[in-house]
Amino acid sequence: MSNVLASFKAKLQKMDKDFKTASALHLKIGVRRKLTAGEIQMCQLVFKNSIDYSKVLINIGGYIHSKTGNAMTPAGEIVLPRSEYITNLDFSKSKGGLQHWFIHEMTHVWQYQLGAPNGWFGIKHLCNGGYTSQVNSVDSGKNELKAYDTDLLGRDYNKKFNDFNFEQQGRIIEFWFDAMYLRNIDPTRQHHQTSLQLLPKVRSLLNNFLTNPNDKFLLPKE
Ligand SMILES: [Zn+2]
Repeated sequence: MSNVLASFKAKLQKMDKDFKTASALHLKIGVRRKLTAGEIQMCQLVFKNSIDYSKVLINIGGYIHSKTGNAMTPAGEIVLPRSEYITNLDFSKSKGGLQHWFIHEMTHVWQYQLGAPNGWFGIKHLCNGGYTSQVNSVDSGKNELKAYDTDLLGRDYNKKFNDFNFEQQGRIIEFWFDAMYLRNIDPTRQHHQTSLQLLPKVRSLLNNFLTNPNDKFLLPKE
């Protein structure tokens, strides 16, 4: 009996210790943060001065973000699933090429700050199954969500940048960033290989954007 009690007491002590460690970690990392200097430098390679970086916050998401593993950037602030928030306190130092994911979310910040109604776009895509229907995407592979699907060298070849929806714009800028700036991070990654393959097309698609990212004409319509 005393053994049972001792083990119970030990369990309680461990729970208490775990709880204190978790709370301390939580206090230390907070629930939201500003962009780091390294992240701002990465963004400036793409968005130049078209974003007010001091206004951008990265937040810890709730249940739905942890459940889906998806980030969301509906109103100029990035919301990350808890585990991704904790492991990416500075995306400029993230492993495995996650920088392109960060740049995708920053594309939504760019759209929002220039005036695109991203919250409304998101709701429309949600209603049309953009975030629930999966397709076999030429550019992104099997089981891609419909909203993100592109075929830049085929079906979408003649489109201009502002003909793409707000998620596809994020994907295109991701491809650009990965091909141009993540060559030294695990180059055999599928995302990197696809980005290299699409680079000539993406470069011409982004020609106006890269020259003047302040141009509101570039914003998506859906
Ligand atoms: Zn997105």
